[in-house]
Amino acid sequence: MPLESHALSQSIPLPQADPRFTPATPEADAFAQRLASDGQTLSRRAIKTLQINVGKMCNLACHHCHVEAGPGRTEIMTWETMEQIIGWLKQYKDELGIQTVDLTGGAPEMNPHFKELVIAVRELGLHVIDRCNLTILLDPGYEDMAGFLAEHRVEVSASLPCYLEDNVDKQRGKGVFDGSVKVLQQLNALGYGQEGTGLRLDLVYNPIDYGLPPAQAPLEADYKKHLHEHFGIVFNTLWTITNMPIKRFEHALKRDGAYAGYMTQLVDAHNCANVDGVMCRDLVSIGWRGSVYDCDFNQMLQMPIDGNGTGVDSGGSVEEHVVEAESRKLWDYTPDELIGRSIQTGSHCFGCTAGAGSSCTGALG
Ligand code: SF4
Ligand code: SF4
Repeated sequence: MPLESHALSQSIPLPQADPRFTPATPEADAFAQRLASDGQTLSRRAIKTLQINVGKMCNLACHHCHVEAGPGRTEIMTWETMEQIIGWLKQYKDELGIQTVDLTGGAPEMNPHFKELVIAVRELGLHVIDRCNLTILLDPGYEDMAGFLAEHRVEVSASLPCYLEDNVDKQRGKGVFDGSVKVLQQLNALGYGQEGTGLRLDLVYNPIDYGLPPAQAPLEADYKKHLHEHFGIVFNTLWTITNMPIKRFEHALKRDGAYAGYMTQLVDAHNCANVDGVMCRDLVSIGWRGSVYDCDFNQMLQMPIDGNGTGVDSGGSVEEHVVEAESRKLWDYTPDELIGRSIQTGSHCFGCTAGAGSSCTGALG
């Protein structure tokens, strides 16, 4: 779907820019500096979730996308790589206490081996989350996907950045809201989001402007009321997520001269109590060729845990395919190399700790 320019508007005033984030100043890892000055450290304490990015192909091309996913992306995880991951899971899931495999993309359903992967992971007794953009389930060839997800009791975590059509279409493309409503109704008819079925359907909100997300609980109440009254839609939980100042969203911020102000807003809203709950403490993220990252954001910044990439905060420009190809793979790691390991941070990490905090399962705390 083509991008429209100026779809993100600066509807709220941003604070005066911290000079550390202005173009004249090379950006250091301000997050690491802040942790050090607060006497805090950040390391992995467990792996409850293995988040797998199965490829960057997507039927949409949203303005805020930190993956820069779209129909033209060709990076796709092969079945051979999936088999290696499944083998590693078999070997270590009990020792590590892994509970969940979180499938993301792109649109993860577009990977031709998506279904085989879901079946294999479910056979290991693990919970599966599908990070679904909803509209892919309307595309030709995916008509049976909603039924498949229900049959295999896959949790659906669906992006819907607003309950109003205009706002969704501005960020995600024309017609996306209508399509999303149709798919949510289809999922409800299969039992998703309905009491007593155990089929979880969560919606994911992210700001459509350059602000931080509003409080999660009252926004969830508004979503539930509006979507039920107008479309008969029910769902379990709304997760609010902060837009990360990287990739497509970073380009928009810079285009609008708002990058330094946005970063300053994140830094000003940093809450050190959120450092304990950031998601990298309890997960690892796997790239399309099997490389290991502290989170999906670090993955997109080419910051693998083995440091075999130059990443955004060291001013690097290593081609992402090279990083993904050359870094150590999940199956090269034993659990003791992953637990207790220091997390690779960058200034983008303030996106996880600002305000109420932000993670793949919404606000922290
Ligand atoms: S935000 Fe999600 S739906 Fe939008 S382009 Fe990125 S991966 Fe696709
Ligand atoms: S961006 Fe990634 S590494 Fe940084 S705090 Fe958030 S989850 Fe952790």
